[in-house]
Amino acid sequence: MKYALVTGGSRGIGRAVCIKLAAMHYSVLINYKRNGDAAQETLDIIRRQGGTAELLPFDVANETEVEQVISQWQERNPEDYISVLVNNAGIRKDNLMFWLSSEDWKGVMETNLNGTFYITRALLKYMMNRKFGRVINMVSVSGINGMAGQTNYSASKAGIIGLTKSLALETAKKNVTVNAVAPGFIQTDMTGDLNEAELKKLIPSGRFGKAEEVADLVAFLASERAGYITGQVITISGGL
Ligand code: NAP
Repeated sequence: MKYALVTGGSRGIGRAVCIKLAAMHYSVLINYKRNGDAAQETLDIIRRQGGTAELLPFDVANETEVEQVISQWQERNPEDYISVLVNNAGIRKDNLMFWLSSEDWKGVMETNLNGTFYITRALLKYMMNRKFGRVINMVSVSGINGMAGQTNYSASKAGIIGLTKSLALETAKKNVTVNAVAPGFIQTDMTGDLNEAELKKLIPSGRFGKAEEVADLVAFLASERAGYITGQVITISGGL
């Protein structure tokens, strides 16, 4: 059995990625922080479609919890390893820097950037030992171009882009690829409070993207066919 871990798999893009990877015959570990009902729904969808998955709740920002959950999973599955990691869990707490609290700065950094580091480090040694792995980091066009009101979020995503490029250089010889996917506006809970009618006027393709469209790109990067792509940031934004 091949295993894939998707952080933030309970909702939105993460859920679509879980469903897609299960259809590719991965046994999917669905991570989430607090929304157990939504995570269970992801699991139910996968099972109804004949796939295999299990819930693996933990807070990506909690270093000790990350280490514990991964070593316990590894003890339960000594013959196996997690060959695909999708670092998708993320939050935004927008404000102009003028009013941005240190708490909201740190909160976004801890989940988005530190969380990516903790879980990737925990799984990397297994991928390197087995000489195959795929790490796909969910970033954002905000981390490439910047976005007013998102200095914390943009900085966290730009940090992940740096991590992606450097780590790809460390792991390429072991057949472990590391790439980032940078969505524009995608219809999920995260963008539910935005004025879609106004914002879509800025998007060349004239609409928000769907979580399933992002999942298709992630699925390709996770596949063996994408073995010669590493250290890249691929934007999926309708031309934004
Ligand atoms: P979403 O609908 O708000 O879902 C966020 C997911 O992250 C949930 O599954 C949530 O779990 C999980 N999560 C949050 N904090 C966590 C933590 N500390 N530990 C573990 N899981 C945690 O978000 P989305 O729109 O699907 O976004 C997914 C990713 O794409 C994020 O990294 C986001 O920055 C990025 N992105 C989104 C868009 C967009 O337009 N939607 C654009 C660019 C980039 P719970 O359900 O338990 O809360």
